Amino acid sequence: MKLTCLGSGSAGNCYLLHNETECLVIEAGIPFKEVKKALDFNISKIVGIVVSHEHGDHAKYLQEYIKVGIPVMAPSMGHVTGALSAISKPFAVRTFPLVHDVSCTGFLIEHSEIGRLLFATDTEYIRYKFKSLNHIMIECNYSQELLNQSYHEGLQERIKLTHMEFNTCKDFIRANQSHELKTVCLMHLSDRTSNETVFQKDVQELVECPVYMASKGLEYEL
Ligand SMILES: [Zn+2]
Repeated sequence: MKLTCLGSGSAGNCYLLHNETECLVIEAGIPFKEVKKALDFNISKIVGIVVSHEHGDHAKYLQEYIKVGIPVMAPSMGHVTGALSAISKPFAVRTFPLVHDVSCTGFLIEHSEIGRLLFATDTEYIRYKFKSLNHIMIECNYSQELLNQSYHEGLQERIKLTHMEFNTCKDFIRANQSHELKTVCLMHLSDRTSNETVFQKDVQELVECPVYMASKGLEYEL
C-alpha cells in the first residue's frame, strides 16, 4: 500500500491510500481530475472518500466525487452516504472529534496490509491517546516563535485555537509512538510560520521510523 500526497496545506489537501486494486481518498481539496490522473484513470478501485471538515481546502471539490457516485464519509458535514459499508471493506474507518473552528473529524483507518493509520489535521490538539499505531499522519502547522513574528495578535489567537503547533504535534507523537510505528507524515505546514527542516529533524529524533513531509508529489510505501 502506498500513500500519495496530491496537496497539503491551505491551497488544497488530498491524499490517496492505494494499492493495485483499492484506493481510499482522504480529503477533497483537489479537483477529482487530479485524482484520476494519479490513479492512471483506474477510478473503479476507489472505495470511498473521507473528508475532515467543510473548509474549502479540504472539501471544495466534494461534489465532484459525489457526482460520480463515490461513497462519502464526512460526518462533520452531515455526509455518510451509501457509504459506510462500502468504505468499511476493505478499509475500516473510525472517526474522532478534533478541535477546530467548525466541526472537524480525525480518522483511524485500518487495513490488513497496513494496520492502523491515524489521520488528523486542522486541530488545536488531539484529546485522545491511541494504542498500537502503525502510521501517523498529523498536522504540524506552525511554530509559536514564527507565529509571534509573523502575525498580529488577533490572527495569532485564531490560528492558535484552530491549528496544531509544533510542540503539540511532538507531544502527541511522543505519547502515541511504539515499536510498531512504521511511518510518520507531517502535514499542513503553514508557508509563513513553519520551518520544514527543523520540524522534520526534531520529529525524526523522537522516532525510529521515517518521517515524511507532506507536499504535492510525495509518495511512500506504508
Ligand atoms: Zn480548516
